[in-house]
Amino acid sequence: MDISGAVAFAPEEGELRRLADGVYWSRLPLPYAPFHVNCYVLDDEDGWLIVEAGIDSPDTRRVWQMLLDGPLASKPVNRLVVTHWHSDHVGLAGWLVAETGAALIMSDQEFSRAWKHCALGRTERRAQESEHLRRHGADVRQLAPWLDAGFDYLSHMSPLPSAYESPAAGTAFRIGSDTFRVVHLGGHSPAALGLYSPSSHIFICGDQIAPEFVPSVGQLSDSAGQDVLSDYLSSVLSIRDALPADTLVLPGHQEPNMNLHESIDRIVAYHRKVDGRILETARDAPISAAELVPLMSRKAADDVWLGFTISRAIAYATRLTTHEHRAPDRRGRWRCRALPHRRALMTNSERNTMPDSPDDPRFQLVAPESADSIRALVCEELGPPSNLSLRTIARHTLTPSSVRIRVHAAGINFPDVLVIAGTYQVKRPLPLVPGSECAGVVVEVGAEVDSVQVGDRVLAVPLVGCFSEEVVVNAIDVFRIPDALSFASAASFPIIYGTSGHALLDRGRLREGDTVLVNGAGGGIGLAAVEIAYAAGATVIASASSAEKREVALRHGASYTIDHTSENVSSRVAELTNGRGVDVVVDPVGGDAFDSGLRSLAGVVVSW
Ligand SMILES: [Zn+2]
Repeated sequence: MDISGAVAFAPEEGELRRLADGVYWSRLPLPYAPFHVNCYVLDDEDGWLIVEAGIDSPDTRRVWQMLLDGPLASKPVNRLVVTHWHSDHVGLAGWLVAETGAALIMSDQEFSRAWKHCALGRTERRAQESEHLRRHGADVRQLAPWLDAGFDYLSHMSPLPSAYESPAAGTAFRIGSDTFRVVHLGGHSPAALGLYSPSSHIFICGDQIAPEFVPSVGQLSDSAGQDVLSDYLSSVLSIRDALPADTLVLPGHQEPNMNLHESIDRIVAYHRKVDGRILETARDAPISAAELVPLMSRKAADDVWLGFTISRAIAYATRLTTHEHRAPDRRGRWRCRALPHRRALMTNSERNTMPDSPDDPRFQLVAPESADSIRALVCEELGPPSNLSLRTIARHTLTPSSVRIRVHAAGINFPDVLVIAGTYQVKRPLPLVPGSECAGVVVEVGAEVDSVQVGDRVLAVPLVGCFSEEVVVNAIDVFRIPDALSFASAASFPIIYGTSGHALLDRGRLREGDTVLVNGAGGGIGLAAVEIAYAAGATVIASASSAEKREVALRHGASYTIDHTSENVSSRVAELTNGRGVDVVVDPVGGDAFDSGLRSLAGVVVSW
């Protein structure tokens, strides 16, 4: 698609600039930098769908009047989509709805956040924010310029309409001959709405992705304790994996562009860099979020930005410490010893090409009874599991960042079979010791490791090498386990629960009260999905092939079961959900199960 002409000329006030068939761009003034917010208009034949309302100011009202009396005058405005609660996007929503009769479309969380900020007085908001920042080590007196400059939310807002529609992720809006689907975008705000057309590759993304800078992701008082930065990173990395490079990105403030992948790569690289700087500082001595400010931004010296910069530092602190279950001390200070997980900041293609361990995965076969040797199941030739043989290999060398574990139990997963057959997506040199996950006792730690100690009971996910008496694993991939958890249970925990948890919670964005269809509920992954969904407060419909498997699914938290060999899955789901369909489908099976999952859907299918 050639949009170069459109990009070169931004629309004048009150003008609609055509970007593609039925897709137009206009700009609304803002009284502060970047001085305008984009508004996108989609032509749905019998009316308009508008994205973003702009801030409430006399200038914006004047420009809206020009648009409504001018290029939009020919037909009604049917729908107004507002991506998120910030006043530069939602400010005039109430006024526009009253003027045009459009239906307001916003997510529940964004609408209630806007409502809350309208209801809170300026004084209360100031008090809440300064208390939140004080808890993270900020000097409240220094914050005064920031507190004075912000918190004018109400003065930028027309009264919100009382009614709105909150579409589930995946909801389709038919626009002329095109279909735009709702995408939920977390992190910059709690649950922003984006719109994506899979056929024309157009993505309206609000403030989630920007071509020239890193969108602000901070933790203010209304998201206290929430890991907003991980939400944000998992959201943009999912977009990077799911949307093609030739996507036309329509951002909230900057110019339409085709730099989706470059923009996300740049944003992720920035966060990796800051992660690294923070880790270096916070490893040596406890530090508060306020003390991180010099590492965050050159603007930090500017007091008007100080509160936002500290809120961003708090977002880092929360992300880097949640996995350690450590709260800041009374002075807001915390320590961080390792990144949450190095794979958490990677796209699919990076994950598939990375070596699994910083340690050399090669090993040496040695004669039995050699000094410093261990026994392991070795694959010397690709093929079935019967090819594996018990051999003696030299002990691995410990590196400063790694941990030596005496293996008590190892989990066996389907990918292990693929690895030794040579059909897994990551190819490994032979000979190899398979086995992705294990549990055991720490027998030696590298000089830099202080997250575990000798004698700790742990589980580890090195992705290779676990069918062995001993493994050497990077400390980042080693986790202490509770005394009540047996080695056998721990060794089979990370891959299936990690996979199902990622599918349901990160990708599926499952919420309490949702309904989930789990295909293959009798398998390890499926059963873990049933348990996690049940624990998250969802209603679970489990599909499995045998009466025995369905019985097991019921015992693990499913409310209903479907026998997909004799029942029609989509009509049974329709019956169980009063025709609404399920919010999330977890599909580790594929094929026909995937198709019937799609037909049962009101939300997201997670398939792999
Ligand atoms: Zn904005």
